[in-house]
Amino acid sequence: MTDDFTNPIYYDEDADVSNIEDETVAILGYGSQGHAHALNLHESGVDVVVGLRESSSSREAAQDEGLEVMTPVDAAAAADMVMMLVPDTVQPSVYAQIEDELDAGDTLMFAHGFNIHYGQIRPADDVDVMMVAPKSPGHLVRRNYEKGEGTPGLLAIYQDTTGEAKEEGLAYAKAIGCTRAGVIETTFREETETDLFGEQAVLCGGVTEMVKVGFETLVDAGYSPEMAYFECLNELKLIVDLMYEGGHMEMWNSVSDTAEYGGLTRGEEVINREGMEEILEGVQNGEFAREWITENQANRPAYKQYRDAEQNHQIEEVGGRLRDLFAWGDDAE
Ligand code: NAD
Ligand code: MG
Ligand code: MG
Ligand code: MG
Ligand code: MG
Repeated sequence: MTDDFTNPIYYDEDADVSNIEDETVAILGYGSQGHAHALNLHESGVDVVVGLRESSSSREAAQDEGLEVMTPVDAAAAADMVMMLVPDTVQPSVYAQIEDELDAGDTLMFAHGFNIHYGQIRPADDVDVMMVAPKSPGHLVRRNYEKGEGTPGLLAIYQDTTGEAKEEGLAYAKAIGCTRAGVIETTFREETETDLFGEQAVLCGGVTEMVKVGFETLVDAGYSPEMAYFECLNELKLIVDLMYEGGHMEMWNSVSDTAEYGGLTRGEEVINREGMEEILEGVQNGEFAREWITENQANRPAYKQYRDAEQNHQIEEVGGRLRDLFAWGDDAE
């Protein structure tokens, strides 16, 4: 363990898979995270069952990998630890089906805190509740494990009735390969609120809006859409790769001095800090969560409209044609 950081970080030597050797783990869902958790646990020697609906098209894929597949209810009944890896929006209904199968001392697990933090799932007082959340898409969790490498992850304990939650959570994190890279201890609140803020203000919302408005500004001023696409979208990857590798300084050192001076003096003008603070407030006071829950209950009318508008934006059409010209891009990695 290292406590050189604000939150403790755990590694392989802090975790012991034998702490869950007597447990059966039910993985509910076999999508991005589900297949990776199930296969990694299985290969680490942990007893795994996969819970899927009778109609699920993933049943065969899981069985072909040698995993035992049951309905979510039967899987939860057979298990001591139940990991919820169905989409966040369907977790409350799946939880309602399996709730009665959680015995005193069983463990309910999540890879994202939304439903617990915003009260959409309210577990009984006598079960342990925790989160083990890899910080990456499932296919990388699986690929890294197979290569003998790890994926960084998060551990959060919400409810510890047995006194064993942490050692079992670390054992699980080790079995899926996360302690090889490092597991940061956090809380459901911190994970949920930073995740929602990040995806709204910076990663998904912020970046796409910046790209789109940059593109529109150039095109509306008479520049060609192709030039606007390359300047505002395509080159973004090159810049982000540099930041990912070596932080802002590696990026500034790699671009021209003109780009550096221009960026340092003008960047601030495009960012609205108050807007970001409002987004954080909406996450913290539950306003965003309420909106999204209501939107789902109404069968997502606004979501569909936003999505259509995004799909019909000129940048998609130009981008589609340009990407076809360098279709080898994917294999170049
Ligand atoms: P996913 O959409 O890839 O997979 C969902 C699985 O649930 C599929 O197997 C699907 O068949 C099944 N499913 C869908 N509806 C169902 C229903 N009504 N009843 C039963 N099963 C149903 O989901 P995911 O991206 O792996 O997300 C799972 C959890 O992991 C979420 O809590 C998510 O926030 C979290 N998470 C995801 C990522 C990621 O990068 N994908 C990263 C970290 C955490
Ligand atoms: Mg049980
Ligand atoms: Mg237990
Ligand atoms: Mg998220
Ligand atoms: Mg340039």
